[in-house]
Amino acid sequence: MTIPKDQVLENTHPLNLADDGVAPDVSRIPLYEVYMRMAEELAKRSTCTRLQVGTVVTDARLENVVAIGYNGNARGLPNRCDSTVPGNCGCIHSEVNALVKAPGTANDKVVFVTNSPCVMCAKLMINSGVTHVFYRLAYRDPSGIELLASAGVTPVLYDRWKEEWR
Ligand SMILES: [Zn+2]
Ligand SMILES: [Zn+2]
Repeated sequence: MTIPKDQVLENTHPLNLADDGVAPDVSRIPLYEVYMRMAEELAKRSTCTRLQVGTVVTDARLENVVAIGYNGNARGLPNRCDSTVPGNCGCIHSEVNALVKAPGTANDKVVFVTNSPCVMCAKLMINSGVTHVFYRLAYRDPSGIELLASAGVTPVLYDRWKEEWR
């Protein structure tokens, strides 16, 4: 049986699957957790008053950050939401802001995002060559997560190590 290196069973990313039968040692912070914390720091730069979200996109080897993003208005526009009407704040979503900068030619990208994605962002990730989407908090509407899974992109709730190595 394959034991995930970070002891998170849902994390089926290829780099996380050790097949040597040795019980994984999580004495060091997993790289997945490091990138999730980067996404959390990026979320702090969001100018959205509804919800602050941060995103990190890496390559398949988790060696290179290929793009970052957080939600907010378009460049040059006022650093605030367009509207206070719920669901209509007009901010570009964090995942969109990251993926628009990520090279489309990079395959098997990995996304780390602080909140589970909406349906439109899930569709964008499906079309962007993303294999795994790690998220810290589940949005109340699971539609985006369900859509990812149905399209073969693996969503992973990643909160097991959030209190460790602080
Ligand atoms: Zn907003
Ligand atoms: Zn979205």
